[in-house]
Amino acid sequence: MPFTLPDLPYAENALEPHIDAQTMNIHRTKHHQAYVTNLNKALESHPDWASKSIEEICRKITQVPEAVRGVVRNNGGGHFNHSLFWQVLAPAGKGGSPSEALAAAITKAFGSMDDMKAKFAAAATGRFGSGWAWLIRKGDGSVAITSTPNQDNPLMDGVAEMGGIPILGLDVWEHAYYLHYQNRRPDYVAAFWNVVNWAEASRRFSA
Ligand code: MN
Repeated sequence: MPFTLPDLPYAENALEPHIDAQTMNIHRTKHHQAYVTNLNKALESHPDWASKSIEEICRKITQVPEAVRGVVRNNGGGHFNHSLFWQVLAPAGKGGSPSEALAAAITKAFGSMDDMKAKFAAAATGRFGSGWAWLIRKGDGSVAITSTPNQDNPLMDGVAEMGGIPILGLDVWEHAYYLHYQNRRPDYVAAFWNVVNWAEASRRFSA
């Protein structure tokens, strides 16, 4: 199988109390696994696509054969998004700080880190239904905030409202927070900042 479920870079309970172990377990081993399984199945009959990276598949989503494009958009997007999500999280106190370059880009775009967090929270809580909030690097090197529905992401040319390279992503599907936060999505979004891996976000910004 070309695509596989990645391991977590920390224990399932390492993000508590901000993200609970049961949510982490079900989210990765059930939800993310289903995206991987369905993506592999969809690309069984398209080996040329199955051999591409998940990033390339997202970028070229409008070129995926029409018969499987919708399935690949949902499940390939799901695989990319969740793989990124596990990486941009870290146990509280272990995520480091934004690099000088990322901090400067955030200040330039939003005025301050707090202003960026407020705008990100607005994107995350304002996304109706299921989707993601993103901090992205645009083509000109600036940073911006956007959100996408379902499992779309800013790599998806011709699909995403605002394209760019994801630096941070927050899953705001109910399956990401409902066990611990129930309907309180804003509390989950606020708690996210305690477990952001700024070292990884900075690496993605400068990559
Ligand atoms: Mn999810």
